[in-house]
Amino acid sequence: MTMENPNSWAAEAIRRVEGDGRHLTPTPLRPLSLSAIPDVEIYVKDESAHPTGSMKYRLVRAMFCEAIARGAIRADTPVIAATSGAVAIAAAHFSELLGLVFTAVVPASTSADILTRIEEAGGRWQVGERPPAAVQVEARVLAERLGGHFLDHFANAERALATCGMPTIADEIFLQLSKEPHPVPEWIVTGAGTGATSAAIGRHLRRHGHPTRLAVVDPENSAYFPAWASGCGDYTTGMPSRIPGIGRPRTEPGFLPAVIDLMIPVPDAASIAALRWLRTAAGIDAGPATGTNFWGTCHLVARMREAGASGSIVTLIGDTADPYRNTHLNPAWVAARGLDPTPYEAEIERFARTGEWPAG
Ligand SMILES: *Cc1c(COP(=O)(O)O)cnc(C)c1O
Repeated sequence: MTMENPNSWAAEAIRRVEGDGRHLTPTPLRPLSLSAIPDVEIYVKDESAHPTGSMKYRLVRAMFCEAIARGAIRADTPVIAATSGAVAIAAAHFSELLGLVFTAVVPASTSADILTRIEEAGGRWQVGERPPAAVQVEARVLAERLGGHFLDHFANAERALATCGMPTIADEIFLQLSKEPHPVPEWIVTGAGTGATSAAIGRHLRRHGHPTRLAVVDPENSAYFPAWASGCGDYTTGMPSRIPGIGRPRTEPGFLPAVIDLMIPVPDAASIAALRWLRTAAGIDAGPATGTNFWGTCHLVARMREAGASGSIVTLIGDTADPYRNTHLNPAWVAARGLDPTPYEAEIERFARTGEWPAG
């Protein structure tokens, strides 16, 4: 890429970032029918189909485009992120695409599997020395020292998606559903990590005037459900979520409660139960946050059935199963955390067979 005109580097870089993986988009929208409930069509939007295996790919792609467009990332800017998860893998991927050096500041608890995946995507990592919640501070300090750009997904992903995230996940969902029997879904169900995805869906519903309602599922320990229910915009639990990608110890700035019609708190053992059911009964091999989504979806399908309603409902596969083989997908790991999915597994099986869901 030419270095003489920095704007031509930026234009070429944005073209590359926006063009990456386009052959894989839109991500697939797959039907998942429950024979006991023929009047409600469930669709799952498979965000694990992105090149880095997670919906974070969409957020990081938009953050790179936005940061390049406003001059924060240039031809030789080191890029830094603070995370042990899918954001680091996507940021390593886009940095490599642009020939930029990427460093993830990771909490000490990060598994060797994840560190290997960051390296495979072309990135470096260093372990944060402070407590886990402070890796963001440490990444910011490192970025200042290196003259680099801190890719702060909690602060920036929501706005980056609003300005540079086209087509959005919601644009794709409505286009894909337009060929289906119920093209306007009753509900869209997602989780919230940064809040950017639920915000993008909520904005789309308003812009287009759709009657579709937005439900956000929330795991144990997360600040989001209490923040939404109480109207307290800075609610904090201080406790980390056990479901990677969703649930936060504090209310992040990208979380927009005003666009959310319903929040569904989901016990962690129920998320694991739903994950197991998806794997064995529906052939969907996904990460734990997809289990949370599916538990919330079952709840809403049951409400539609009770109301005698027909229609469609959309939820997401947030990431692939691969990073969780030794953790959430391993029964010994689950049991060691005091989680017992068995009663919830029985409830899902009964629901799929009879359409009956526990009251509430
Ligand atoms: C990040 C993430 C979410 C939530 O998306 P946000 O846009 O950050 O709110 C949901 N599921 C998975 C698997 C994630 O990694």
